[in-house]
Amino acid sequence: MSGLALNSVTKEFGSFTAVKSVQLNVPHGTFVCMLGPSGCGKTTLLRMIAGLDSPTDGAIVLDDEDITKIPTHKRNLGMVFQSLALFPHLTVGENIAYPLRIRGVDAATQKKRVDELLAMIHLTGYADRPVTKLSGGQRQRVAIARALAISPKLFLLDEPLSALDAKLREAMQVELRQLQQQLGITTIVVTHDQREAMTMADTVVVMNGGEIRQAASPIEIYRKPADRFVADFIGMTNLLDTETDSAGRAIVLGHAAEGIVLPDDLKKATLSVRPEDVHLTAPGEGTLTGKVTFIRDLGGTIETFVDVAGKQIVAVSTPRERPAVTVGQNVGINLTPDVCVVLKK
Ligand code: ATP
Repeated sequence: MSGLALNSVTKEFGSFTAVKSVQLNVPHGTFVCMLGPSGCGKTTLLRMIAGLDSPTDGAIVLDDEDITKIPTHKRNLGMVFQSLALFPHLTVGENIAYPLRIRGVDAATQKKRVDELLAMIHLTGYADRPVTKLSGGQRQRVAIARALAISPKLFLLDEPLSALDAKLREAMQVELRQLQQQLGITTIVVTHDQREAMTMADTVVVMNGGEIRQAASPIEIYRKPADRFVADFIGMTNLLDTETDSAGRAIVLGHAAEGIVLPDDLKKATLSVRPEDVHLTAPGEGTLTGKVTFIRDLGGTIETFVDVAGKQIVAVSTPRERPAVTVGQNVGINLTPDVCVVLKK
């Protein structure tokens, strides 16, 4: 297969297993974001792909070649880490040309490639500037250009944008994704930022405890999270405990939810209901009854917070569909099978 394959990759540190038998195919030219809480093993996995750590077990295959035992410098990789590691005493152009220079590429070819890369990162004319005289976003782009100078087969980035402020980070996410699409380069980014992963990735890989919990497109992760952990980690949803009563009905917050059926093997489960799918009705008309506790009007969207038996449920609407409710009012919430995703508890 053209691209990267991780075949049962495991990493043990003494008796602790940081990465457990990870299986993943990354087709050529795709963008993967590895996402998960601190300590879930994402950096360890990236370091093994980079050759900075070796797996205890399993194989790493790049374009049909087993690279598990090949040293980093022979893997044809571009890497960017959070620290960027630019050389402060060199100019922008010298930093970008560095990987070419140490490979003995002639000066004219180096210059041509630096000019190409500067154009690509929107810094044409900056070649002679010291990197110390750049903004955070510009330094980020120079680190990316330096990593891409050798036209690597694989582009690896570990929390590359986490040092930037929120606004710049969002702009750089779009830039990085556009650059990756323009080059068609297979790219793997480690992040703990859900929005970042959802913005950039073709495939989001959600990890926990050294294992992959789900690997799917952002929209699939959003719409059909594999389990409660994934739904909770991605956020942006209401998670409601539910269980089957003796008559086989699903009971949510003490009320029977008509039409919602838990799979036979699940007596207890979690319902995931997206805020945009929560429909407010008159009290007594919906599945649940609660009280409006807060309304957040963000202009483009309106969030209505409803307390149902001590559990907060959020409904989101556009100004056009704004529910005619006020704080303190009782409302009904209708839970229908088409808007509830049943997850393993
Ligand atoms: P973060 O987002 O905090 O960087 P992460 O998901 O990248 O977390 P890793 O750095 O991959 O997590 O670490 C996974 C687990 O392996 C952690 O529990 C960590 O303490 C452990 N670990 C990582 N490197 C080593 C090491 N060299 N020796 C022993 N344990 C290690």
